[in-house]
Amino acid sequence: MRNLLKRTSAVILSVVMLAGTSYAADKVPGQKWIDSDVTGNVTKETQTSPADDFALYVNKDWDVSFNPENNTGSQILEIRKAEMKNLLSELIKSGTGTGHDEQLVSTLYRVETDMAERNAAGVEPVRKYVEDIRKIRSLDELNTFISDEDSQFIAEPFLNTESYPDLKDSARKIMYLIPGTLSLSDAAEYSSMTEAGKRTRDAGKEMMIRFLRKFGITEEEAKQSYEAMFKLETNLASAEVPVREMQTYFYAGTESYHPVAISELMAAGSAYPIASVLKPYTDSGIEIFNLYEPKWLSRLNELYTQENLEAWKGILLYRLMMNSIGCLDQDCLDLYEQYTNAVNLTNRKTNVEEEAYKLCNEHLDWAVGKMYCDQYISPEEKEKVTGMIREIIEVYRKRLENCDWMSEATREKAVEKLDGIRIHSVYPDDWSPYAYRGLDFKSKEEGGNSFTDVIAIQKYKKEKAIRDTVTPPEGDIWDGAPQDPDAHYSPTGNSINITAGVLGDAFYDPNASESANWGGIGQVIGHEITHAFDSGGSNYDRDGNLNNWWTDADRAKFTEKVQKVIAYYDTFEPLKGYRVNGIMTQKETVADLGSFSCLMELAKTKPDFNYQEFFVNIAKLFRMQASPAAEQVWIQSNYHPPYYLRVNVNLSMLQEFQDTYGVREWDNMYCAPSERLSVW
Ligand SMILES: [Zn+2]
Repeated sequence: MRNLLKRTSAVILSVVMLAGTSYAADKVPGQKWIDSDVTGNVTKETQTSPADDFALYVNKDWDVSFNPENNTGSQILEIRKAEMKNLLSELIKSGTGTGHDEQLVSTLYRVETDMAERNAAGVEPVRKYVEDIRKIRSLDELNTFISDEDSQFIAEPFLNTESYPDLKDSARKIMYLIPGTLSLSDAAEYSSMTEAGKRTRDAGKEMMIRFLRKFGITEEEAKQSYEAMFKLETNLASAEVPVREMQTYFYAGTESYHPVAISELMAAGSAYPIASVLKPYTDSGIEIFNLYEPKWLSRLNELYTQENLEAWKGILLYRLMMNSIGCLDQDCLDLYEQYTNAVNLTNRKTNVEEEAYKLCNEHLDWAVGKMYCDQYISPEEKEKVTGMIREIIEVYRKRLENCDWMSEATREKAVEKLDGIRIHSVYPDDWSPYAYRGLDFKSKEEGGNSFTDVIAIQKYKKEKAIRDTVTPPEGDIWDGAPQDPDAHYSPTGNSINITAGVLGDAFYDPNASESANWGGIGQVIGHEITHAFDSGGSNYDRDGNLNNWWTDADRAKFTEKVQKVIAYYDTFEPLKGYRVNGIMTQKETVADLGSFSCLMELAKTKPDFNYQEFFVNIAKLFRMQASPAAEQVWIQSNYHPPYYLRVNVNLSMLQEFQDTYGVREWDNMYCAPSERLSVW
């Protein structure tokens, strides 16, 4: 599922990095707090106190001194990612491991960084495919190309597949059919284009023209190819789900869950050769597919005409370019560098070693993860975090058992679900399901190069996805590698996932006090567990199946409570004209509230609990700096509210906070008991 949601976030993430432009916005009238996440809104002269604006009080010095050139990230996950990048690069570079998977990592890294070899090969590794695509003259020839198994790895056959647990029977897996990748990543960009979208479009066009020129294609032909592709994508995108709706769309399951037999897909009498494109799957015994976006497939069929042939070829050429450009010669790397700099408004030089690290960490993620955990994470650390998760679950159970607004029947089901949560803490107990058995790279003598290595990995992953769909692997399988800084709850797996990579900075410090760590990784654990009971997660039962376990009356009470949270967050307008979207952020705001209630309950059981250290760490956990433009994008598209609100809103709801800092009725961090929000 994570990949499904991830596939379209590239543009948004890169914009959030654009912090730093100096800017001083007027405080929006009627707002309690200034948006201190925006660089320039806070200066050395800005006065504040803990009772007035706690996020600002704790983070002011960090906010004021923030400089994207010197800071490793503008918020905690970016900071963790930068730190992990340094550690993992060193580890991969040292290449000392002798096991099969460690050797794969070393080989891939060596081939990727061998620029002499790559420059000698130039663009030859992909010339054949560019020519094959250009030669296509009819829909029949297009069908042959996209149905060829090798070509499918070179350029997507206008659709993607992903193997996920069946929403209604999580013990099984089902192959999802999802739309092909769009050049602008997010379908919404094609109907109302953001500045970032415009930059991506213009830079993508420029890159494609210059890339195709290397194969003797005229500028005019390349330009026409891009323009035809873009027009067709615009048409396709209007039938696709935009990024901002994707989470809700996926978890609601009403539209996203459509198991269909291949025979039904064929009987629909489509122009698009779905049977032959999916032949590798059906030959392996997969008969049922989940048609994730039915409207998209209908649109694809409508548009699959001879008239659009050049546009479809344009899509193939664009995808081929995106899949290969990072594996070719220096000239191609320079082209890609210009593209990313134009999109992100940066001026970064491509570092081949860094790109090779990214490739190893993305494509051989489990091998790199094992190397990292062997080297850096002790079993005691895993034990410690697992213990914190168990403690929070215990407190949660008591809270559910005593929950006064739910009936006995629903309460029992809720506790059952809580007890069924699988704990994925730090790294998996058993690494064997993640080994790359059977994956090997061709040597140079056998025609192997950087590009063929990447294709070999994709082929291996596809075959594994097919195997896992036909026969789901035994045991408790993680859905992401442990070095990726990440914490999430999976409704379909009913699992809480706290990775090794996240353990650092304000999340977790073995030398910090326990209270501070409860305000770091503890807050995150409570938050993720609450996702099991938010408006999406609560539709799934103990086994991760989409199944209503609520009585209607309890569901109505729950919805009423959530409505209050939505209405409260709707009142915030961090930047003039940009209001928080209470509905879009509801799962995150409910998860935060649930976590804080639970942690305050837990604190009561600890005689030495230091509230001040806890609250200060919370503010550090959520410090962030963004340019006004990046903050606008955040408010419009991120499921989390701006971070200063995650601190101030939540802490102002807590009596313990009011008591610790002597908050009085006229202070901005005051919230009257009758107005405090509470769901769980
Ligand atoms: Zn969350």
